Amino acid sequence: MNNYSPLENRYQSMPYKRSGRSGLQLPAISLGMWYNFGGVDPFENGRAIARRAFDMGVTHFDLANNYGPPPGSAEETFGRLMKLDFAPFRDEMIISSKAGYDMWPGPYGEWGSRKYMLASLDQSLKRMGLEYVDIFYSHRFDPNTPLEETMGALDTAVRQGKALYVGISSYSPEDTRRAAEILRQLGTPCLIHQPSYNMFDRWIENGLLDVLDEQGLGCIVFSPLAQGQLTDRYLGGIPVGSRATKTERVWLTPDKVQHNITRIRKLNDLALRRGQKLSQMAIAWVLRKPQVTSALVGASSVPQLEQSLGALENLSFSQEELDAIETILKE
Ligand code: NDP
Repeated sequence: MNNYSPLENRYQSMPYKRSGRSGLQLPAISLGMWYNFGGVDPFENGRAIARRAFDMGVTHFDLANNYGPPPGSAEETFGRLMKLDFAPFRDEMIISSKAGYDMWPGPYGEWGSRKYMLASLDQSLKRMGLEYVDIFYSHRFDPNTPLEETMGALDTAVRQGKALYVGISSYSPEDTRRAAEILRQLGTPCLIHQPSYNMFDRWIENGLLDVLDEQGLGCIVFSPLAQGQLTDRYLGGIPVGSRATKTERVWLTPDKVQHNITRIRKLNDLALRRGQKLSQMAIAWVLRKPQVTSALVGASSVPQLEQSLGALENLSFSQEELDAIETILKE
């Protein structure tokens, strides 16, 4: 039963930006389903977050074959959401998935072979109950598969009508250039790159952004909040239930938070002086780069998502503010 009617004014406040030199516009803030939408998570909470996002003009929902936990379950959750709430709005939505990480046993269950990539996309479509995804990504560069093969699989996905656009994630500047050139020759231009980017993780400033400019690719940056570190989540200690306490989530540990806490506190003071939350300043900060098309956030509750969207109220920085951030980050 569909009883969801999105807000009529949902397109009023979200800015949309073209992805590189393509025709596709993405919202300045997109919602990622890496965590909080898995089989282990309460369905109604994820549902409320997704609905609120769409109500606020977030048209882009990012998934991957392995999101959960368990792997695959975030796509299953999304499939339920499509059926229950979003089916009438499919043409207003940009839904992405990816293949690259470990999904099933044996030599065809991960990395970048044609065999794996296309089988994985079929599985993703089945889990989500979709005929096609809008963006299909190679989730990671595979050093043991010819890049022509991985990019050829992306091109095939588009030709089969199972994806509209293709992208790559976390590829180095040099591999990005090669991937973009191969895809262009195949007639399926690369739409977008999805790298990590936040105040604590600035690798894309060392060459990747220039390649994206040169090749005309868009850029959607993941973990702009450094997985919650660039918010007020950890200011008073490490709360039970936060991402840093979940042992299977090895990318963020209490040690890591502890290591950064002095800088987090100073950044928080600076954000408050700007009249913003730290999370909002962190999102505005990644969006300051002209190459960045969208900030891809996660949220474990509706208020977190709403706070992130509040970043749109102040996206500009004075030179003094930018310098102050640099000084804190160097400490
Ligand atoms: P963020 O940096 O936005 O971190 C999100 C987490 O921060 C939330 O789950 C929550 O954690 C905490 N948080 C968010 N808002 C607030 C707030 N207002 N106050 C306090 N805490 C807050 O991004 P993610 O790391 O979640 O990544 C976003 C998306 O990027 C993923 O869902 C995925 O789509 C994509 N991604 C892609 C990767 C790739 O390899 N291509 C890798 C990683 C992510 P808590 O649980 O503690 O509440």
